[in-house]
Amino acid sequence: MSIMWSQPAIFNVLDPWYEISPGVFVGMVPGQGSPVGQFAVQNRQALQAIINLAQASNDQSGPYYGALIVFPGHSGPATQGGTGEDAGGEYLIQAPGDGTAAIPITINWPLRFLGTGNAKLTYFIPPDDPDFLPGDMFSVETSGTGEGTNIGGMTFEDLLFHYPAITTSDTIPIPQWAAIHTVLAGVENFRIVRCTFADCPIAVWFEQALDCSILQCFINYSANAGFGLILGNGQNMGDTNSAKQIFVTDYDAARYAQWKKRLTRLKVSGCVTCGKKYPPRLRHLLDFDHSPDLVKRFGAKRFNIANGAMRSNRAVALELRKCRLRCRSCHQGVTRARRKRQAKKAA
Ligand SMILES: [Zn+2]
Repeated sequence: MSIMWSQPAIFNVLDPWYEISPGVFVGMVPGQGSPVGQFAVQNRQALQAIINLAQASNDQSGPYYGALIVFPGHSGPATQGGTGEDAGGEYLIQAPGDGTAAIPITINWPLRFLGTGNAKLTYFIPPDDPDFLPGDMFSVETSGTGEGTNIGGMTFEDLLFHYPAITTSDTIPIPQWAAIHTVLAGVENFRIVRCTFADCPIAVWFEQALDCSILQCFINYSANAGFGLILGNGQNMGDTNSAKQIFVTDYDAARYAQWKKRLTRLKVSGCVTCGKKYPPRLRHLLDFDHSPDLVKRFGAKRFNIANGAMRSNRAVALELRKCRLRCRSCHQGVTRARRKRQAKKAA
């Protein structure tokens, strides 16, 4: 049987691409399974088979359109340590257990991994196997056999990567297992977009990488401590392949830039004490000073306006009512005078 693909080929991980026994084809199976982890080994094998097919879907003579691998997500937001209810988009993946990556990938042609919702990839550690040696979830390198060594890279998009709780202590350090690890020959143009890394000992480790991006991702820890991002390997200092030109942005950066603009606009009126006005580029010299009389009227100080980037517009507006705008020197003068009065009062 020969399989034909349109290009770029699209692979749904739920479709039966993997020949688990002669003539029997299966796909990945979402959910916890019964017992938990029932499908974790099959999921690893199926995903590996799908990646191999996706790579093969590119005509070796070119042109190279790449391939898309789709993980259907579930209806609700993925939850850590979920109960299995509505776990339609959680895929448990069990590695071989010898410390090697669950899914080693050698890129020949562009690959795009896409979650359709909150698809969650959980690194499964079998609870009844004390000899099981965990490791990376995905390790990625370039084969060098494609068109050049890096022909369009690889993207992980809208996926949640999750590791279970791992016991660490003063003597047992955080393990060096990464959800995504670029190794050896490294990768170029590797993009991680809108992904969440939950409790991964290392979320992303660009050991050898060039022109790679992490965009609008979340990295959080509740059950484990870990490292969000590691660049390089700390050994090959002169190595031309070590991680470089890594671009990282997130929602907060965009929000902060917006906030700085807003803050500049809010300071248009200048100092209430000396009356001096400042051009936009010098308005960082103006402070919003919490005035005791206004605090008495509008409530206790909740935060410094300068730190308002992550507050709601309403919270900022309520806080602004308690403040008067003053230049740095007038602010200091007024504060000194206030302290003097308070000291007199106390005496
Ligand atoms: Zn002033």
